[in-house]
Amino acid sequence: MDEMSHVLILGGTTEARRLAEALAEAPYGTFRVTTSLAGRVARPVLPPGEVRIGGFGGADGLARWLYEHRVDALIDATHPFAGTISFNAAHAAARAHVPLLALRRPSWVPADGDDWHPVGSLDEAAAALPALGRRVFLTTGRMALAAFARVDAWFLVRSVDAPEPPYPDRMETLLDRGPFTLDGERELLRRHRIDVVVTKDSGGAATAPKLTAAREAGLPVVVVRRPPVPEGVAVAATVAEAVAWLGDRGQRP
Ligand code: NAP
Repeated sequence: MDEMSHVLILGGTTEARRLAEALAEAPYGTFRVTTSLAGRVARPVLPPGEVRIGGFGGADGLARWLYEHRVDALIDATHPFAGTISFNAAHAAARAHVPLLALRRPSWVPADGDDWHPVGSLDEAAAALPALGRRVFLTTGRMALAAFARVDAWFLVRSVDAPEPPYPDRMETLLDRGPFTLDGERELLRRHRIDVVVTKDSGGAATAPKLTAAREAGLPVVVVRRPPVPEGVAVAATVAEAVAWLGDRGQRP
């Protein structure tokens, strides 16, 4: 390939940033990398390479962007729960004839002693809570609070930016960004007398210590299952696999 291959990374995750870093370290001139962020976080940690922020205007807008910016490969490294952009990526890539890979960290797997309650949605998680506890550690993100607004319980909500209503009446907010430590999570559960934890199946190590802390304390954990990756889209579990995929597609000199 004469020109540098242009790789568009749909980001907003640690993996997306790591991928941009890995591609920046590739032999000089190999890749032109653009990372796209939705713009949800006030002060995002920026990756190397070019960065664009904000929506594309649906699948059509993304397809147009791929075409106009001569993108050679699209990597959907968004969060496993960012279902709309992943769906849009699949449609746009097909329309613009751009190869697409989804980079998805593996799901969490329960260990011996875990008391997990898998559910299909945030609404199901909210419905499951009254039978499980009254003091809830809610780690599903600030955009996911409306589903819990009518639940009769006290919530400790941890999120990167401050939540906006609707949210539960009885709630304390903890503004923090992972990675979190096991000692820190143990202390949090103890100090706030938490009796149930709610999480999405985000996977990855950065936010997993809460699961270990809950297991040690014998607490139930409501785990919201992931939406599926759109049909037919290739999946990589690690940054190294994604780099290898780019190599296999000829996206290197
Ligand atoms: P979503 O529901 O799948 O997407 C909603 C809309 O946001 C999309 O249709 C798109 O707008 C825009 N968008 C999303 N990701 C984008 C990106 N990387 N670049 C440009 N536009 C993007 O997404 P979400 O769940 O709100 O998540 C938004 C971002 O936060 C994602 O980048 C994701 O990786 C990150 N994130 C999400 C979660 C989570 O639990 N959902 C957790 C951590 C981080 P247009 O249709 O206008 O293009």
